[in-house]
Amino acid sequence: MSAQVDNRSGLEALEKRLAEDLSLLELPAKSWVPERTYEGAAVRDVVVIGAGMCGLAATARLVLGGINNVVAYDAAPAGLEGPWVTFARMETLRSPKSLHGPALGLPQLTFRAWFTAQWGAEAWESLDKIPKNQWMEYLVWYRQVLDLPVRNNVRMTGIRAAGSLIALDLEGAETGRVYTRRLVLATGRSGLGGFAVPDFLKEVDRQYWAHSADEVDFSSLAGKRVAVIGAGASSMDNAATALETGAASVDLLIRRKEMPRINKMTGIGSQGVVHGMYQLPDAWKWKFVDYTASTQTPPPRASTLRVSRHANARFLLDCGIVAVKEQGGELLIETTQGLLRYDFLIAATGFTNDFDGRPEFAAIAPFIRSWSDGRYTPEMGAAREGMLASPDLGPAFEFREREPGTCPILAHIHCFNDAAMLTHGKVSGDIPAVSAGADRLVRGITASLFAEDVDSHFANLVAYSTPELQGDEWVDSTPLLNKDNAL
Ligand SMILES: Cc1cc2nc3c(=O)[nH]c(=O)nc-3n(C[C@H](O)[C@H](O)[C@H](O)COP(=O)(O)OP(=O)(O)OC[C@H]3O[C@@H](n4cnc5c(N)ncnc54)[C@H](O)[C@@H]3O)c2cc1C
Repeated sequence: MSAQVDNRSGLEALEKRLAEDLSLLELPAKSWVPERTYEGAAVRDVVVIGAGMCGLAATARLVLGGINNVVAYDAAPAGLEGPWVTFARMETLRSPKSLHGPALGLPQLTFRAWFTAQWGAEAWESLDKIPKNQWMEYLVWYRQVLDLPVRNNVRMTGIRAAGSLIALDLEGAETGRVYTRRLVLATGRSGLGGFAVPDFLKEVDRQYWAHSADEVDFSSLAGKRVAVIGAGASSMDNAATALETGAASVDLLIRRKEMPRINKMTGIGSQGVVHGMYQLPDAWKWKFVDYTASTQTPPPRASTLRVSRHANARFLLDCGIVAVKEQGGELLIETTQGLLRYDFLIAATGFTNDFDGRPEFAAIAPFIRSWSDGRYTPEMGAAREGMLASPDLGPAFEFREREPGTCPILAHIHCFNDAAMLTHGKVSGDIPAVSAGADRLVRGITASLFAEDVDSHFANLVAYSTPELQGDEWVDSTPLLNKDNAL
């Protein structure tokens, strides 16, 4: 990196420019939501669960919009939120470096501004893709520079109603119960569910297999025969990591006859898609998501090459798994291509949003309306299980009740995670449109808090008594009028 600038002073200069921009825009806006208490306890305006990228963007947008009685909780330690430096095993992001991500329309808050401030414009030009650890460092800075109210090592373990409020149970660095008027679930890719695990693995001892999002001790796979299910990005990243740490062999077991090669939705990415998808008729939403699911997203080229450059890697296509069992200390995998033997298997089988594996949602889950509760109709296209389980959300990502009146707090719980995709488009998960999603979310929360407090806002209007005119700006000439010059 030539023309390297002094990192710290570059960053300080950027922070100063950001502060000036915020001041020019009068941000954060003044606080405007009336305070509330419940049985003597303070009540939050909004609690955000999850301080990954979506949780940070949502929290920032709330605070900038004058809703500052907010807190975000994350179960992970500070700096370890989300997948980036935990189970993400790629070298760089797939996303192009130039995306604005969570910058909320503020140029000085972009990754590019952060990077260039420290390493200069030339280094920016020569940067290909963003290293994943550097993306995490940027998110840490984002949180710090905006002084966001995030508390780490706190897990939300339960949600219930407390009158019209939402009561949350917390464990970890903060314990007990907190009350909030609105709840944002920025809980990530497995937003409402957990790992998707194929039936054929459910009875197999966990010492023989891991999910790609598990913590895996790759050094223990040195010299072992490893199988990886799937042909997506995570399959490649896990296969490459196993190969690089000395696995004897790695086979990718791929059900499809051909590798998916075209990244369809990225190909048509536009502001039209970002803002228009939500407004489309449901049949069109279904058609887009169904088509993308059937064509599948290919793994990035660099990740695929990272695997194929190893002579002991094999891509086994048209190789569906029929059954898996452990026998004599090894895994016997019956596939459509015959019987295969391995020491360990990694299931890069993705995530589900069906509420399984998320005890914290157990109290509200039965009441949440999903697309299977009448929003989907067969004319839309083939019924896909994962899509049918998608929550049927309102305009600000709020849940709806399956039966009206059974769980009214759902209207105040906002599903700002991957599970919102079928209803809202991809604005609450990936980097490209997270700012647009946070904006949509916070506009909705703003409007609903204002409406709920309308009595108090009207009372403030009536009570407001600071004169703008002092009474000395004019003279009342009425008494001087006489009949002749009256109009
Ligand atoms: C391996 C991998 C690679 C990816 N690469 C890219 C990429 O290159 N580009 C891209 O755009 N997207 C990528 N993604 C998608 C990525 O998940 C999102 O872009 C990003 O992480 C979304 O942020 P998020 O805040 O929704 O979720 P996350 O970053 O996953 O954050 C969710 C947070 O919620 C917390 N949480 C969950 N439940 C609770 C609870 N009950 N209590 C307290 N805290 C809780 C978790 O600890 C976590 O920190 C990738 C995903 C994976 C899995």
